[in-house]
Amino acid sequence: MFRAVCAAEGAEVLLTTRRITAIHRPPGAVVVEFRCWCGHPGRTVDRMPGAEVPPVSLPRSA
Ligand SMILES: [Zn+2]
Repeated sequence: MFRAVCAAEGAEVLLTTRRITAIHRPPGAVVVEFRCWCGHPGRTVDRMPGAEVPPVSLPRSA
């Protein structure tokens, strides 16, 4: 579950990860695009404090 602000409702909503339509990782931030329960698309932008340089691609466990 994650919190997001639905522009259509003008309120904070609690969504499940199944509502996520895309995740972008620009340097120093995470952008999550979602579709609210009401059907309105939106996005959240979380900036990582002090993360000016994107982390080198870390090995992922298989
Ligand atoms: Zn909504």
